Order: sequence, then structure tokens, then C-alpha cells
Amino acid sequence: MKHIDLIIIGGGPIGIACGLEAKKNNINYLIIEKGPIVNSLFNYPINMQFFSSSEKLEIDNIPFISKEAKPKRNEALEYYRRIVTSNDLNINLFEKVNSVKKEKEVFNIKTDKGTYTSSFVVVATGFYDLPNTINAPGEDLSKVSHYYKDPHFFAKQKLAVVGASNSAVDAALECYRKGAEVTMIVRGPEIGQRVKYWVRPDIINRIEEGSIQAFYNTTIKEIQSDSIILKTVEGEKIIANDYVLALTGYTPNFEFLNKIGIHLSGDGKLYPQYNEKTMETNIHNLYLAGVICGGMDTHLWFIENSRIHAKMIVKSILEKVIS
Ligand SMILES: Cc1cc2nc3c(=O)[nH]c(=O)nc-3n(C[C@H](O)[C@H](O)[C@H](O)COP(=O)(O)OP(=O)(O)OC[C@H]3O[C@@H](n4cnc5c(N)ncnc54)[C@H](O)[C@@H]3O)c2cc1C
Repeated sequence: MKHIDLIIIGGGPIGIACGLEAKKNNINYLIIEKGPIVNSLFNYPINMQFFSSSEKLEIDNIPFISKEAKPKRNEALEYYRRIVTSNDLNINLFEKVNSVKKEKEVFNIKTDKGTYTSSFVVVATGFYDLPNTINAPGEDLSKVSHYYKDPHFFAKQKLAVVGASNSAVDAALECYRKGAEVTMIVRGPEIGQRVKYWVRPDIINRIEEGSIQAFYNTTIKEIQSDSIILKTVEGEKIIANDYVLALTGYTPNFEFLNKIGIHLSGDGKLYPQYNEKTMETNIHNLYLAGVICGGMDTHLWFIENSRIHAKMIVKSILEKVIS
């Protein structure tokens, strides 16, 4: 069993920022990431463009130069990968943390590859692992996906896109432009108000001109192999269908947080509790960082406003070590 002073769970942008800050302050640290470097970004749509401009995604003021003001996924992969490799950060990839238990003042961290002990832990596991399901029969069919990758796949196909936020709108527009016959299924009365201000008019115009079909105030009753049954305000409707992209958001792994013993509160106990000055949770020496801090409100934290967590956490750790 290996003792590391600080274990950081999750090698996303914020976990990496924590590792970099620890390294600069001579803290013995290890990042443990269950996938490749910045796994969530790696799994984003291949043509995805960030809504933040590149300087807002920078870690530790290391310049992020992109072709356009708002970088694309592959530029972000390049940026964060170079931070890890150029700074030779300690990161174990493709290693999943299964449990964190505290005994006396020491954390026991079990992964699918080994066991570690540490004095401090940062949980920076994001929210991209667990999709919000639509709970309709047929959701488990292979034609249904909660992750969108490449529009080429859907050319000449009847594609239903469920949802009305950024991910759903981007997918609908892109697939329509690559030759898919797109139908949007929207639970509410309109396209989401948080959709990027430069994209929202585009989708509304495509719907109004009939290039993309949209059903508002509509949910899915059942998904079948070649059709879907909709529940619309005018009653049930069956439409022909080849593929479904259910892009209805994602949720942090609350079960993992619960098992660690992190207090969750709020309606339905879905918001992790932490000290806003230090990011420390109710568990002494265990911190939260990055977008996971928002709990169910996954729109609260982004890279641009949570990258600061790294410095707050390392400052708190150094103060404890010194005192
Ligand atoms: C489509 C999309 C577009 C976005 N665009 C922007 C944008 O333009 N600007 C912006 O600021 N933000 C944006 N965000 C939000 C935010 O940038 C991302 O969610 C970002 O990845 C958050 O960084 P993070 O390090 O907190 O979490 P993540 O990047 O999600 O990193 C968490 C990491 O933890 C790993 N992990 C999880 N569980 C375990 C475990 N048990 N053991 C080991 N590793 C584990 C995961 O594999 C993952 O790599 C976007 C989000 C999405 C979904």
C-alpha cells in the first residue's frame, strides 16, 4: 500500500488544476483518473465548440491559444494534455476509485487497480458519467443514446432529439445539416432560455421554416424499434424513427459521494455541502472541486468559475500542514 499526501480523484480540467497547484507547492500528490486525460472532454461531441473563450478555460494563466475565440474540443484536449505532459504531472489513467474511507486521520482509497492511503483527498469527479434518463420503455434499445458524438452517423436517418438545452440543440442543428431528418421532442413549451444566444435564433428559425420538426409540451411514452410513441397535448402520436438521442442532461454520482460520507442537502438531498472559503467538506481534510460542487444544478459551475478551487484547496492544505 502506497501513502500519498494528497490524492485527487478525477483528471478533468479541475483535477489537473489541483495537481498542478500541488506540484508547484511541493505537495506529494497523485491524480487518479478512470479514463484518459480529461475523460469528459474526450467524450464530448467531436465538433463541439466551447461557449467560453479560451482564456477563460486556462489553468494557472498558462496561455490557451485557439484558432477562434471559443475553442473546439480537439484544441481543449491538446491544451490540457500538454499541461499534464509538459509539467510531468503525477496521474494514473484508466484507474477507477471505488471507495474512500477514513480511519482515524488517514484516508483509505481503493481503486480497481490497488489501494492507497492519503492525508488529504480532493473529489473532482464532475457530472458527465450519469445521464438523466427519460424513463420510457425502450430506452435501453441500442438505437437510444444519451451521448452524441458524430453527425455523419445520422445522415439519411430519422433522428429524434430529446431535450431543448445546448447539447440537444447543437446535436439537432448539426445532424440536420448533415442530412438527418430531425425531430425535437421538448418537454417544455419552448427551446431552453439558456441555449447560447448566438445559436438559439438558428434553431428557432429552422423549426419555424419546417426544416426541423419540433413537438413542444411533449414526452415520450415508448420507444419501439422503428417508431416512438409521443404524449403530446393533443394526445398520443406515433412517429417513424431510426435513432433517439436523449440529451436531457447529466447528474453527479451522488451514490459515490454518499458512500464517502459527504453531507448532501437540499430538496431530495442533492447538493453536496462544503465550506465556500476552503472547499472542505464535512469530512476533515476531504475537499470538493470543480463542477461537482453544484450538485443537481449542473449549470452553476464551469471550468471558468471553478478553476479557482485548486488554489483555495492547496492554500487550505498548506495552512493545515504549517499550523
Ligand atoms: C457539452 C458540454 C459543454 C461544456 N462547455 C463548457 C464551456 O464552454 N465552458 C466551461 O467553462 N464549461 C463548460 N462545460 C462544463 C464544464 O466545463 C465541464 O463539465 C468540465 O469538464 C468540468 O471539469 P471538472 O474537472 O470539474 O469535471 P470533469 O471534466 O467531468 O472531470 C471529472 C473527471 O473525473 C473522472 N472520474 C469520475 N469518477 C471517477 C472515479 N470514481 N475514479 C476516477 N476518476 C473518476 C471522470 O472520468 C472525469 O475525467 C461544458 C460541459 C458539457 C457537458
